[in-house]
Amino acid sequence: MSWLDDIQYQGRQLGNRALDRHIRLGVTGLSGAGKTAFITSLIHQLTLGDQPTHLPFFSVVQQGRYLGGRLATMQPLALPRFPYEHNLQYLLQQPPQWPPSTTGWSQLNLTLRYKPGSGMRARLQNHSELQLELVDYPGEWLLDLPMLQQDYQQWSEFCWQLFRQPHRQALSKPFAELLQQTDLNDISELQLQHLTEAYSALLQQFCEHAGTYLHQPGRLLVPGELAGAPMLQLFPLLPEQIVTASPLLQRVTAHYQSYCNYVIKPFYKQHFSRLDRQVVLVDCLSALNAGHAAMQELQQALGLIMQSFRYGPTSLLGRLFKPQITKVLFAASKADHVTPEQHKALTLLLQQLLQQPIKHSHYAAAHSEAMALAAIRASTTGFVEQQGQKYPCISGRELGAIAPVTLFPGDVPASLPDAALFQCHPFQFPALAPLALSMQQPLPHVRMDHALEFLLGDKLQ
Ligand code: GDP
Repeated sequence: MSWLDDIQYQGRQLGNRALDRHIRLGVTGLSGAGKTAFITSLIHQLTLGDQPTHLPFFSVVQQGRYLGGRLATMQPLALPRFPYEHNLQYLLQQPPQWPPSTTGWSQLNLTLRYKPGSGMRARLQNHSELQLELVDYPGEWLLDLPMLQQDYQQWSEFCWQLFRQPHRQALSKPFAELLQQTDLNDISELQLQHLTEAYSALLQQFCEHAGTYLHQPGRLLVPGELAGAPMLQLFPLLPEQIVTASPLLQRVTAHYQSYCNYVIKPFYKQHFSRLDRQVVLVDCLSALNAGHAAMQELQQALGLIMQSFRYGPTSLLGRLFKPQITKVLFAASKADHVTPEQHKALTLLLQQLLQQPIKHSHYAAAHSEAMALAAIRASTTGFVEQQGQKYPCISGRELGAIAPVTLFPGDVPASLPDAALFQCHPFQFPALAPLALSMQQPLPHVRMDHALEFLLGDKLQ
């Protein structure tokens, strides 16, 4: 496709948008929340899943009006393509494997064909088309928004308050010691790079070992196309190092401002503000496994992420950009790791983590919903009988194990448990490997049809 084709492509998308036949759906969530699995499943359901038994709550399918979906012939040239085919290969391997996770912004376009349900179009046309642009991006990038309201000093203080929490203290100690030994007059490239690498290694360690969620700047952990850019030479100096002026303080302050102006603002302006609908995935079960501090931090991180969807006229976003997201789906992912009767509690827990019942949320501009789902179901459900009593269970293969297991993974608390409960009752929800799959069958799921109905149902009328 030449540049001329690209312009024609953009022109066509604008035309479709004007005719309401185009929708741009963002999928986000913190690392490991399930974005890759969700988008892969969504595409698979839309390209193969025209069977009412497979998507019973997706009305266009249920009413027999869905004529099928295919990858659009025109894909944007300048943006990374979501690696759908590659991801499917992983899932179809023997034994099946989970595909690699999201590392940056990527996109894939679909054309969905359907019979209009009612109105003029139903009488005049035998089919209509909806252009669906799917956009995958790391939730860590949304955690950057609050940095626009802070200066470098405030941001550093905020970081060190966080790093001094009991569950982060031990890991952050070597970085604090490194900063203490740092010459604040040395602003050589070598020094800046060394400190940046030490800080990004610390963020990585937090992520992998401490059940932490709030990582800033998001691009240091998931740089996307900005890997190696000088403004990513950013780290929080110690509170005592920011009270007096120094060349190093001056340099990192300048990088902080560049990061806000050339990374955060353009992301919201060029990308985020063009989204029409949004999915935010949250892995509540892994956070429960990681303990009370992890749950609290997840709640804090979600609070920051939600600022991106609170864009009334007085909000920072409303003043700076013009977001147009009209629907937000908050989904507790990997619901197949628990038995079905626990899904209600999982949804309630998610709602509590989002701090207010979603139904009564203050996102005047966006309609939102919360649900528990599994994009790619990795377990089957059933009952085991013990002394005449039936107990719910799931069966699957734990990640890394060879033999399948049948188990009751435990109750999901419907609200954030207090610290004492984690002491006497640690949660241990298993991580499961994908089930054996076949190319011809749509991927097994839990509630993807509900998600599709919420996200697309009205556009396929
Ligand atoms: P991302 O970092 O948000 O792109 O997360 P991924 O989609 O790569 O998911 C991270 C991991 O979570 C995967 O490798 C799987 O182990 C697990 N996972 C994601 N979605 C599901 C799901 O629907 N069911 C189950 N059982 N596991 C899932």
